[in-house]
Amino acid sequence: MSTIFDKIINKEIPANIVYENDNVLAFKDINPQAPVHILIIPKIVIAKVTDLKGKEHASLLGEMIDAANQIAKDLNIADDGFRLVFNCGDNGGQEVYHLHLHLLGGRKMNWPPG
Ligand code: AMP
Repeated sequence: MSTIFDKIINKEIPANIVYENDNVLAFKDINPQAPVHILIIPKIVIAKVTDLKGKEHASLLGEMIDAANQIAKDLNIADDGFRLVFNCGDNGGQEVYHLHLHLLGGRKMNWPPG
């Protein structure tokens, strides 16, 4: 199923892109929950975490983590620390059904999360 993130991948709607390679795209969240709030997405359509298969998607997930670390360095939040979050399904608070990794930083995060 197509989502708004497909349109961002295809450059049909604008986004504030901070990182891109052949497999991964990252852009600023439109409704940031922290001073730094980036979404890191695969360019292929995977709806949610429960659609991931370790062997098949290990390399892609590795690239998403590499992207998060690179962006954290670029945006100067690597040393202070940050949070990475996958929301999955209704109870996880997922709204867009295209896999995305939230990178949140620039402030002290609360625990437990809401
Ligand atoms: P989730 O609740 O985990 O599915 O997160 C979806 C995220 O996508 C939310 O934080 C939204 O603010 C964000 N979002 C929705 N539409 C856009 C958009 N066009 N550009 C950037 N971020 C978006």
